[in-house]
Amino acid sequence: MLTGMQIAVLGGDARQLEIIRKLTELDAKISLVGFEQLDHAFTGATKEKLEDVDFSIMDAIILPVPGTNLQGEIDTIFSNEKICLTEDIVSQTPGHCTIYSGISNKYLDNVVNSTNRKLVQLFERDDVAIYNSIPTVEGTIMMAIQHTDFTIHGSSIVVLGLGRVGMSVARTFSNLGAKVKVGARKSEHLARITEMGLKAFHLDHLSKEVESCDICINTIPTSIIKANVIAKMPPHTLIIDLASKPGGTDFRFAEKRGIKALLAPGLPGIVAPKTAGQILANVLAQLLEEDIDSGKESLS
Ligand code: NAP
Repeated sequence: MLTGMQIAVLGGDARQLEIIRKLTELDAKISLVGFEQLDHAFTGATKEKLEDVDFSIMDAIILPVPGTNLQGEIDTIFSNEKICLTEDIVSQTPGHCTIYSGISNKYLDNVVNSTNRKLVQLFERDDVAIYNSIPTVEGTIMMAIQHTDFTIHGSSIVVLGLGRVGMSVARTFSNLGAKVKVGARKSEHLARITEMGLKAFHLDHLSKEVESCDICINTIPTSIIKANVIAKMPPHTLIIDLASKPGGTDFRFAEKRGIKALLAPGLPGIVAPKTAGQILANVLAQLLEEDIDSGKESLS
């Protein structure tokens, strides 16, 4: 239980509602900033204006998945008001106050460093990334269906990268009956791909391996589907780039060659905001309970 814990939830989208639901169920007291257009009320959560929040009693601040932008502004779909996380706000919190975000950037890193607060980036955690790969794959299937005129079953699919997303993508498309090849650079990844019953190839041979590819799904967050690779693809190939912005594809060259290439960020929040929110809510609840337990231990 999170009884006695004070948490500020600043902005966000539908995923945040699952977090608020879970934390109020666990008896935390929540200040909601950037939710005034939300019709729903949660027992134990109060909608407040940023300037009215008493940050000196906060045990945790929860930011939306993207954190802040480079100016410190926080996105919220439930308000028209501008919310900005400043060094001044964070410095008002007690020293033990932890800031939770999906990812970080230079601005957020600077604020937590200069105020000496702890920042937890939920998307860096393996458990979150693996759970999150499930709605990501479902979104990828949706895109493959929407943007092709052939079935996934029987098609030749090249998956790039065998990380947390790549592994789920490769396995699921194979289970749907596609002929899946996976490109990686580490010998242990090549071994795992083979163990999974899929065709493994080294990324050095990428341009040769895409010659008969119907769909190429990239999960590698670096420039990988370069012009020389795109040049070898059949004209009907669909590229779905899942890697974080700017993706790993030469989109300019793909367009020039008439190959459809789609950058598809944030699929979990688009196709399954409720599940994506529950994934974050469950991990957050566990981390906040650990925070409470460690606080009790340090007092004993
Ligand atoms: P991950 O577990 O770190 O996997 C990344 C993969 O890329 C690994 O196989 C890694 O191989 C490979 N890689 C990285 N740099 C490389 C390089 N320079 N050359 C060759 N291979 C390289 O990451 P993940 O959790 O699977 O996420 C993959 C990407 O998808 C990230 O950009 C993430 O932000 C994004 N993502 C997007 C969505 C969406 O909705 N589109 C959802 C979730 C995640 P090594 O081990 O050899 O480095």
